[in-house]
Amino acid sequence: MSKKFHFATWAHSVSNFGDNPQEVKGHVERLSGAGFELIIPCVKNPPGYADFKTDVAEVNPTYPDWDPLKVLAESATEYNMKVHPWFCIFPEGEHSALLKKSPHSAAVHESSRMRWACACRPEVQEYELALYESVADGYPIHGLHLDYMRTGGVCRCDYCKEQMAARGVDVNEVSTKDPGFAQWVDWRCERITSFVERMRELTRNKNIELSAAVFADLPSCRNSNGQDWAEWAEKGLVDFMFPMNYDNSTRNVKLRTRQHVALISNRCPVWEGLGKASSNSQLTTEVMVEQIRAAKEEGAQGVVLFHYPALSDEDLSSIKELDI
Ligand SMILES: [Zn+2]
Repeated sequence: MSKKFHFATWAHSVSNFGDNPQEVKGHVERLSGAGFELIIPCVKNPPGYADFKTDVAEVNPTYPDWDPLKVLAESATEYNMKVHPWFCIFPEGEHSALLKKSPHSAAVHESSRMRWACACRPEVQEYELALYESVADGYPIHGLHLDYMRTGGVCRCDYCKEQMAARGVDVNEVSTKDPGFAQWVDWRCERITSFVERMRELTRNKNIELSAAVFADLPSCRNSNGQDWAEWAEKGLVDFMFPMNYDNSTRNVKLRTRQHVALISNRCPVWEGLGKASSNSQLTTEVMVEQIRAAKEEGAQGVVLFHYPALSDEDLSSIKELDI
């Protein structure tokens, strides 16, 4: 049974839920028993493969015939839980069908660990939208989840250069103190927000939810990544906002939650992303519980734990026993 305060978890892969349908059901039952209501499995990772059946992208050759995403979504429904398939949207690595067909659509970033498509380009947005549509059409899911809903850096590809040149800004010359820099930031935010608008339209048409993982620090992510999630909330574009508040310091988590809640201002529920095991944090059960309480005290309506394989039986029983 779900609690008043809401619990969800991200999982890097549907394979985190086992090797056969019985194991998947067992994991869903385990989460349901602890009061969780939403599972967010990654079905498109940065290399570009799809971990579900689709004609739009290349399907990961290791994806099993028994269709784990389908089993996960059906099991969740059975337990009165929800599944929002998660895409790392714009990273398009070595298995990207998009960049095999249109290599010119790659982003031109100064530094990035992974290959990205240029998130501002119309053809890139069309591809990602078609891929989301195919998972929404093919599976009994309850919503879609946006991640890497950003540019991944400052792109200077031909498209971005031309678009800004038409607005009188040379992206190779402009510096942060120039007014043109703000124009460039605003344009990138507009391009990213316009994709979220398309996703809102898609999810409304399919009568499913839309959730988003977003940077914890706004507005710096406007400049670095074109991500203005306060605007998404102002426009009513998502049903849930999950700021990734990954930090071992509960005080830091508390201060950021206060900012997120103020920025969203009740336009949609805020569930704080907590890093049980992330690149920024490793939480003991005790600190995880402390951070859940801190998020609630500061006005968040729930938490999303990163990530499922790190949740021990001790973690789950502590969450189950929480009187919130
Ligand atoms: Zn670009």
